[in-house]
Amino acid sequence: MRWRSARKFSSGSSKVAANEFERRRQTVAAGLAERKLDALLVAFSPNLRYLTGFTGSNGNLLVLPDRAILFTDPRYQIQAGQEASCRIKIAKGPLVPDIVAAIESSRLRRIGYEPGRMNCDLFESLNARLPMKASLVAVSGWIEQLRTIKSASELERIRRSVETNSRAFEQTVKRVRPGMTEQDLAAELEYRMRRLGAEKPSFETIVAGGARGALPHAQPTAAPLRPGSLVVVDMGAFQDGYASDMTRMLFLGSPTAKVKRTYQAVLEAQLAAIDAVRSGVSTSRVDGAARRVLKGYGLDRAFVHSTGHGLGLEIHESPRIGKRDQGRLETGMAVTIEPGVYLQGFGGIRIEDTIVVTPAGCRILTPTSKDLRVIG
Ligand code: ZN
Ligand code: ZN
Repeated sequence: MRWRSARKFSSGSSKVAANEFERRRQTVAAGLAERKLDALLVAFSPNLRYLTGFTGSNGNLLVLPDRAILFTDPRYQIQAGQEASCRIKIAKGPLVPDIVAAIESSRLRRIGYEPGRMNCDLFESLNARLPMKASLVAVSGWIEQLRTIKSASELERIRRSVETNSRAFEQTVKRVRPGMTEQDLAAELEYRMRRLGAEKPSFETIVAGGARGALPHAQPTAAPLRPGSLVVVDMGAFQDGYASDMTRMLFLGSPTAKVKRTYQAVLEAQLAAIDAVRSGVSTSRVDGAARRVLKGYGLDRAFVHSTGHGLGLEIHESPRIGKRDQGRLETGMAVTIEPGVYLQGFGGIRIEDTIVVTPAGCRILTPTSKDLRVIG
């Protein structure tokens, strides 16, 4: 419900954005007591960005019940002031002495930290310098959980990222010819997305021709695209910090009956999974919807990964939509739906959209046609 009632974000208004970051920090501050914490120390940059807007590479955020302090170094003095609305402390050297000083002066006892997200150096350095009565308390997945439900402004950014990604695909697909290498096609896709407003790809673009398509995470090679082959194109952009993710299939020449049948199976599986999406549904049920269709085609064992994943400030976020995942989808989650089949010697077929969960179903953000793109 939250994202429907939130105000629409306008990129020109930093005031609205600052309020949103403040609201997120207030949510964390309000949750400290129930976790028996005096503060939370955030070192993981996507979580830091989520709570402050700060995009620098070196920073730590200490969230206290009544305020938050961003620690960074002189390289980011101007940038931090422009991006973050909380208190900013510029360290002369390493950040740890300033963090410890803040812990001492506020007499903090229990300081939450993110064990899977903080490197051992920082942990040990802090732990060795903490005042007598203070201790670090492991808190996992809290900010990641908050990040699963996107605000209206986040959904708008994801939508723009999806739009850019799809436009880059359409502009590039027109130029694909047999003989073009996988690397050339990947480079062209990335160049186009940057020209259209992306900061960078949200992951290393996958272009895999022929039998190499059976590797779900194939790296593009210098191999030319050959007539009579399937080509997997899996691409995403980061725009305004937010990720998009899409997979489409090309075929050079006239597709064989086996290609058409396999494509149809994956398409039906993808549509069935999308059809199963709504607020409250279990993620394993959505995954099961895709798997059931593929089973009908005798292809379920060729579907070797999960059906989808959340995305936002990172390309892979919670929730995961897989066979063994126990979560539930909620209104405002942005996720991918991407079943695929991989057959050694034949290649791979995957179809992937970015969608947003709504109370009664979902909104498909990806505007690109799901037809097999036949070239030449
Ligand atoms: Zn993808
Ligand atoms: Zn994906």
